[in-house]
Amino acid sequence: MEKIKMTTPLVEMDGDEMTRILWQIIKDELLTPFIDLKTEYYDLGLEYRNETNDQVTVDSAEATKKYGVAVKCATITPNAARMSEYTLKEMWKSPNGTIRAILDGTVFRAPIVVKGIEPNVKTWKKPITIARHAYGDVYKATEMKIPGAGKAELVYTNEKGEEVRELIHNFTGAGVIQGQHNLCDSIESFARSCFNYALDTKQDLWFATKDTISKKYDHTFKDIFQEIYDAEYAEKFTSAGIEYFYTLIDDAVARVMKSEGGYIWACKNYDGDVMSDMISSAFGSLAMMTSVLVSPEGYYEYEAAHGTVQRHYYKHLKGEETSTNSIATIFAWTGALRKRGELDHIPALCEFADKLEKASLQTIEEGKMTKDLALITTLPNPVVLNSQDFIKAIRTTLEKML
Ligand code: NAP
Ligand code: MG
Repeated sequence: MEKIKMTTPLVEMDGDEMTRILWQIIKDELLTPFIDLKTEYYDLGLEYRNETNDQVTVDSAEATKKYGVAVKCATITPNAARMSEYTLKEMWKSPNGTIRAILDGTVFRAPIVVKGIEPNVKTWKKPITIARHAYGDVYKATEMKIPGAGKAELVYTNEKGEEVRELIHNFTGAGVIQGQHNLCDSIESFARSCFNYALDTKQDLWFATKDTISKKYDHTFKDIFQEIYDAEYAEKFTSAGIEYFYTLIDDAVARVMKSEGGYIWACKNYDGDVMSDMISSAFGSLAMMTSVLVSPEGYYEYEAAHGTVQRHYYKHLKGEETSTNSIATIFAWTGALRKRGELDHIPALCEFADKLEKASLQTIEEGKMTKDLALITTLPNPVVLNSQDFIKAIRTTLEKML
């Protein structure tokens, strides 16, 4: 079979620990035998980030702006323990945070649905994609402990020095206060990313806040979404046969639990943080979750939703066998390859991505899986494979399909 040709390189962001090991096996077994793989390689492994003073992370994000599509391996976000483990010059920031700041994107996370791994919610038949706004609110809040009686106010001073004040509370005893903010620019980007992604994946878009209680803050989110929808997207949604629908966050939660899935649920920062953990655990596992960062300009960065699986890596280093699930990392590659194929009009690349996904899921449905899935599957007598053999089993299924 002739290898599929690519015209534009993918931005390849390599990573750390167990996922770095899987990354190489996936390329060797599932990609390079079938594709003339073209990538521009950036090593986001912690050692090289440290060596380049994290410049490599910035460069990889800039390359994503140049080429449009990136695929990223999970990376270590340094903490105190990592400082000494890797003798770091500095506690480098989270690469995901750095890339997100440069691309100004929204992260979409969706469970990978497969027969044999049944959601805890019986009605869910299709994936529910969470779109989480990644800027502001409680994550950029300023807080204060109020020691005792006194007046707390919100004060805004404009550039001329004029003040606007609002009373928060006349305290008669001790308490707490918090100041949150968001930016209209950021909310607009979030809205456009969501509308674009809905069109891209042909799914309805739901958005919910608590605007009945938060008449200015949350209401601004609701208004911005509606204005952008009416002005730029209403017609496109109609011709794509999809719907945008706004409701209160508590109503949304109730509807989600009774739905059959198959839509995008846009959430404010905190709601997205909390709800994405609920969705991923109810659908099965973090190892069966895709994640893509979409910028308002239409740049895409695909990754797995889980981390570098450190515990498995240390077993691997000791020469012990591991059974790490590579599905989310494989789907990061297929997502990126499919998008590249769409942008460059290479149908063979899109078809290959579809087939590799199908082969991955079929392998699981045939009862061959990693340990994490074997523990939760409803299939009888699953065969537990190690990290490498699972990928090889997928290759066997794929070769039969091609
Ligand atoms: P983790 O890598 O997601 O792993 C936590 C646990 O979840 C694992 O120990 C394993 O459970 C299970 N697990 C996760 N992915 C799995 C997979 N593919 N197959 C099988 N089991 C899987 O989280 P962590 O250990 O808290 O974090 C490790 C490093 O990842 C940290 O340095 C963190 O900074 C980084 N991180 C990176 C990203 C990213 O780049 N997107 C995201 C999150 C965390 P068992 O041990 O019980 O088998
Ligand atoms: Mg969370």
